[in-house]
Amino acid sequence: MKCGKATCSCQKNKKDRHGPYNLWDRKVNGRFTSKMISQNQFKQMSQWIEQRKRLEKLMAQAIVISQQIALEEFET
Ligand SMILES: [Zn+2]
Repeated sequence: MKCGKATCSCQKNKKDRHGPYNLWDRKVNGRFTSKMISQNQFKQMSQWIEQRKRLEKLMAQAIVISQQIALEEFET
């Protein structure tokens, strides 16, 4: 991995590559791309991911509950 700084020696020399890296992996047009992001962006992103995880958990629960309700409707 290169750090993204044009002046950094890691751009030219593989041995000079260093960490840590904050990488944002995502799928764009069916292809995976990685984007280097700053520490602040990384923190912000982590919060969004946390919120999304919570939201997805709630959604999954809502689906289960609605399925139970639907089943009960059919059984009566
Ligand atoms: Zn570098």
